[in-house]
Amino acid sequence: MSTTSCLLGKHHKPHGGCCHRRKTNHHATVPELFGANVFSDQVMRERLPKETYKALQRTINAGASLQPDVAAVVANAMKDWAIERGATHYTHWFQPLTGSTAEKHDSFIAPSVDGSVIMEFSGKQLIQGEPDASSFPSGGLRVTFEARGYTAWDCTSPAFLKEDGGGNVTLCIPTAFCSYKGEALDKKTPLLRSMNVVSKQALRVLRAMGNTTSNKVIPTVGAEQEYFLVEKEYYLKRLDMISCGRTLFGAPSPKGQELDDQYFGAIKDRVSAYMKDLDTELWKMGVTSKTKHNEVAPAQYEMAPVFTSTNIAADHNQLVMETMQKVALRHNMVCLLHEKPYAGVNGSGKHNNWSLATDDGINLLEPGQTPGDNAQFLVFLCAMIKAVDEHADIMRTTCGSSGNDHRLGANEAPPAIISIFLGQELTDILEKLAKGEKICSPEGCQFVKIGVDSLPDLPKDNTDRNRTSPFAFTGNKFEFRMVGSSQSISGHNVALNTIAAEALDEIASRLEKAKDVHKEIQALIKETMAKHSRIIFNGNNYSEEWVQEAKKRGLPNVQNTADALKTLIGSKAIKLFSKYSVLSKDEMHSRYEIYSEQYAKHLNIEARAAVQMTRRQYIPTVIRYISVLGASASAAGKHGGVQKKLLEKVSVLLEATGKKVDKLETEAQKARAIEDVGKQAAAFRDKVIPAMLSLREDVDQLEELMPADMWPVPTYSELLFKL
Ligand code: ADP
Ligand code: MG
Repeated sequence: MSTTSCLLGKHHKPHGGCCHRRKTNHHATVPELFGANVFSDQVMRERLPKETYKALQRTINAGASLQPDVAAVVANAMKDWAIERGATHYTHWFQPLTGSTAEKHDSFIAPSVDGSVIMEFSGKQLIQGEPDASSFPSGGLRVTFEARGYTAWDCTSPAFLKEDGGGNVTLCIPTAFCSYKGEALDKKTPLLRSMNVVSKQALRVLRAMGNTTSNKVIPTVGAEQEYFLVEKEYYLKRLDMISCGRTLFGAPSPKGQELDDQYFGAIKDRVSAYMKDLDTELWKMGVTSKTKHNEVAPAQYEMAPVFTSTNIAADHNQLVMETMQKVALRHNMVCLLHEKPYAGVNGSGKHNNWSLATDDGINLLEPGQTPGDNAQFLVFLCAMIKAVDEHADIMRTTCGSSGNDHRLGANEAPPAIISIFLGQELTDILEKLAKGEKICSPEGCQFVKIGVDSLPDLPKDNTDRNRTSPFAFTGNKFEFRMVGSSQSISGHNVALNTIAAEALDEIASRLEKAKDVHKEIQALIKETMAKHSRIIFNGNNYSEEWVQEAKKRGLPNVQNTADALKTLIGSKAIKLFSKYSVLSKDEMHSRYEIYSEQYAKHLNIEARAAVQMTRRQYIPTVIRYISVLGASASAAGKHGGVQKKLLEKVSVLLEATGKKVDKLETEAQKARAIEDVGKQAAAFRDKVIPAMLSLREDVDQLEELMPADMWPVPTYSELLFKL
């Protein structure tokens, strides 16, 4: 079970030290371990002929096309490296629109004439695959006669080895997944497209401002991942957790999160052992797991990696989610990634920290010290203010899922209203710059000329930052906090990159034409504040006043996924994404279909699980209890008051439960029969969810009246506190 032991297989070369270390009981140090399973730049440099390495670098960095002869050499080196580490299979690892990852394993074996096999992996096998992937959702993009999807190597994300508990080692090649005609069927393709687009437009801005050194702009992301752990034994006893990843029933436990004793609390040994194992597994795959701590709710935790290029961050986040679940099982626990596993305590999200960096290491959202850096920062900040204000609906739609609907607006996560937190100091600076007023700092007050004078230092405040904002500027990056814990982060970053690209495109056109760039920036700030300052809000986003205020400001407040998804097929979004060739109209429509269907499917599974649990577990148990009570009441005669009272209460609730479960079943049936995806999603939202909630009320009341030893499923106290 120990993951620091050698899982790299018997073929591992002694100089790698792994197997040798195991015998001598030497634990690999973190630097030795880190990236051991990654076909990294360093490995490529060591193993590829110089020319091949250079050619591949040109493809990775400049998007040059990869020649077949180069691919063949890379494939061979990759195969040798993987086989030395025990790999027998390879897979094109891709991210279909289901939101999870997909892999089909092919072994390296190729039969030879003498009946033996050799291990083979060609350039063609590296760069393209044709999984029989007809069962993945395509939202109508693939017609049946061309049902195949194609996977294409994304060489900007390194290949890596995945090890499983059964000792299998698989070479995973990150790939994009497209239709025969090249339409995106996955999450990675539009992400790569959006990265190129934002790079191009950001570079134009930089050039217009006199930057001659940067050649590329890379959106960077660090995704903080929240999760719950639960005892596996309890999890397996609950059909709702098994089928939906969350509890559909459950009376509150006496203790919740009100004492704030979990957040940042000492990590229990058992959880700590899990986290150690998790870190090790992630480090081996090159995932920079950095921070770990207890979160707000009981049995809730968080892991944050060090940020990296968006594309790799998205791949890594998928690996994080998968590894969290895999490792938990080894510790007899289950990792819950659902946005709302339990009612009454906080749910889980994912903070998507986002910024733009140049290839020569400049963070474009870093306020900087010099007038030049300040000017650059202000331009990129204005771009984001404009972008977010104009496309708040697009950001919102990316956060839609049946699970995340429980969080947004539920006073534990940002509301469904998008706004930007800048902090009072920065807001003041922007306002003063816009009005041409003096800006004050401890050194005194002065008029600030962009590009000539420095801005006062912004407080790098890490303590009382506004935690309620959905999109907060946190010193040198934005933190998008509406993302659901189980969601792929691709969609969010496709949106951020593309809306940023559009704003930067417009700004670049202005600056390129401007006679005096700094004057133009001053005008830009003024204009941005005049047109878009309504999106800035530094107060409490959880408050009712904000909901009212946002309405006055005309900011969208889209409460649920069924509505939010419509943005995808609205003309504004289609125009934006097709203008920059990130997603075509057809691709947008296919995504709308798929996500709406997914929303309905998840709710349908929940409804079915709720019905089954009620009919097969709760109702029979209550009936048994009623007979016990009846017998006891008659035995007790005139002293049977307690029994009689209980009998009455329980019987009334049982009757109501019976009616409500029928109602839920009928509503779910009706919703299932609707063909139009939009109408179906709305029916699940308007009819099925209320029926499910109403049923829960009665079942939860029954739970509170029933003997603990009769209740058929583990309770909230057990699920939340018995780790
Ligand atoms: P917290 O939000 O918990 O206070 P931090 O602000 O230190 O923690 O960092 C949160 C995440 O933001 C980390 O994953 C970190 O790597 C990431 N991050 C830091 N700088 C950047 C950046 N320039 N671009 C993207 N992500 C970043
Ligand atoms: Mg954070």
